Amino acid sequence: MCRHCKTCTADVLVVAPSSTVPRVTAHDAPDRCPGVLRPHRAADGALVRVRVPGGRLPATSLVRLAALAAEHGTPFLQLTSRASLQLRGLPDAVPQALEEAVRALGLLPSDDHERARTLVAAPARVLDPVVEAVDAAVLAEPALAELPGRWLTVLADAAGTHLDLPFDVAWRPEAADPDRGTLLAGDRARGCDRRDVPRAVVDLMLRFLAHRPGAGTWNLRDLPEGSPVLTGWEERVPDGVAPPPAPGPTPDGRDRVVGVPLGLLTPAQADAVAAVCSSLVVTPARSLVLRDPAPGAEDALEATGLLTTPGHPLTRTTACIGAPHCTRTEVPTLAWARAAAEAATATRTTSSTTTTSTSPAAPPVHVVGCARACGRPPGARVVLPTSPDDVLEALDDRG
Ligand code: SF4
Repeated sequence: MCRHCKTCTADVLVVAPSSTVPRVTAHDAPDRCPGVLRPHRAADGALVRVRVPGGRLPATSLVRLAALAAEHGTPFLQLTSRASLQLRGLPDAVPQALEEAVRALGLLPSDDHERARTLVAAPARVLDPVVEAVDAAVLAEPALAELPGRWLTVLADAAGTHLDLPFDVAWRPEAADPDRGTLLAGDRARGCDRRDVPRAVVDLMLRFLAHRPGAGTWNLRDLPEGSPVLTGWEERVPDGVAPPPAPGPTPDGRDRVVGVPLGLLTPAQADAVAAVCSSLVVTPARSLVLRDPAPGAEDALEATGLLTTPGHPLTRTTACIGAPHCTRTEVPTLAWARAAAEAATATRTTSSTTTTSTSPAAPPVHVVGCARACGRPPGARVVLPTSPDDVLEALDDRG
């Protein structure tokens, strides 16, 4: 057992691309992904996860959820690596008022399908109707109440935004004709027009459920070799993947991306967002795309600690929740990640002979408290630190 984690056998420091972190594929029970109706009991109290299909959310709903977090538990909303929103530190018996408030926001349209609605989508407006149609199709299929909470559906843009996520099924439109596109699953692909995406996604989900060996198979990639689920699909040709949108104006200048430091959004930050826009997209990169924000909004957003430009090391630093919120570690991941990012900023701004070089183009660094490496972003350096210095070292993009 390592000296700072109570349960794992990892060595003192792990710095590795996320793709090299061992992935568990054999399970002997259904997944335990939390929802609003199925809280997870963490060290800091109950945790509920609110699915936001496609991340599309009115700003008023963000404000309400942040206020609910402060009223009933820890005063922040946690943005997850799948663009869901978590409230934590809640009483073990989650208050009925919280559940009712989430229902009132329209974020719990089906008790049975709550955990089947994990859908990440690129922020492009052209995908809005596809998000709605896919979610409606999932809700309309009773059998999908059995879909594991680990299933991930992605709707990408033509550039491939979010195709670096470990999706089960994804759809990518063509650049020349967004009504046409390709459905992707594992190493297979097949053509699929935009209007056919909802039915195609639901059909694949149903085939997965029909052919999986048991409830311990949570994802398409875990199906045994020779499974007929993707029979008839073609071999997938590797294609480009775009990075998630960085803080700052979007390329068309219409929207603005703000980073949420360590994925923890305070009520004051939610209020600041709602003061400058009426709708937004939650991204799996722990950021928000503010749609049509009021001009000159940056100062007010920055004043609350939101990240409006890509330069700050916190824009590429993430962390699992760690101690004292998680029972599996004694590493205060959030505090150390923040301390290291701030030290990197100070070093960069006060010394011309800096010893730590960080750049927004460098890979993200994900700080974890044990080898599970919860919430790691695609391509991240994963660090299991013994001190903030280990995080600072990982942030050095020359390393
Ligand atoms: S990676 Fe972090 S949040 Fe996940 S189990 Fe380990 S200590 Fe807990």
